[in-house]
Amino acid sequence: MSHLNHLLEALNDSINSDKTKNIIDKLEQFQTECEECKRFLEDIENQLKIMQIDPTDEEVRDFQQTISNAKSHLMKRHKCVPSGYYMGTFMAIGTSLGVVFGLSIFDNIALGIPIGIGVGIAIGSSLDQDAKKKGLVI
Ligand SMILES: [Zn+2]
Repeated sequence: MSHLNHLLEALNDSINSDKTKNIIDKLEQFQTECEECKRFLEDIENQLKIMQIDPTDEEVRDFQQTISNAKSHLMKRHKCVPSGYYMGTFMAIGTSLGVVFGLSIFDNIALGIPIGIGVGIAIGSSLDQDAKKKGLVI
């Protein structure tokens, strides 16, 4: 990672976390093609500089807000996902489809649910792996 690293090093774990680093990494990855990512990086840099000496609670809160805004930007604009996102989503879909098919096709809810969950896990984990391969997990 970049020059932001040494600004982060000086700060405590709630700011200098893997989550923060990961988000900054992704912003740097996209900044050449995205003005908004660039702006987030500038904001982050300024806020990190301000926090070098005795950060106040408010400054820390502001910073965490920026990180969370950056995260939602990455998810909306660049199709980034939190780790395990697809697994969670497709397990939920699989479970409800399992109930529906269990009742309609098999006439047995106890049979439908595990099949639905199994299919959900299969799809979800392959999508999660794909996202990871493309470097889109935040
Ligand atoms: Zn962007």
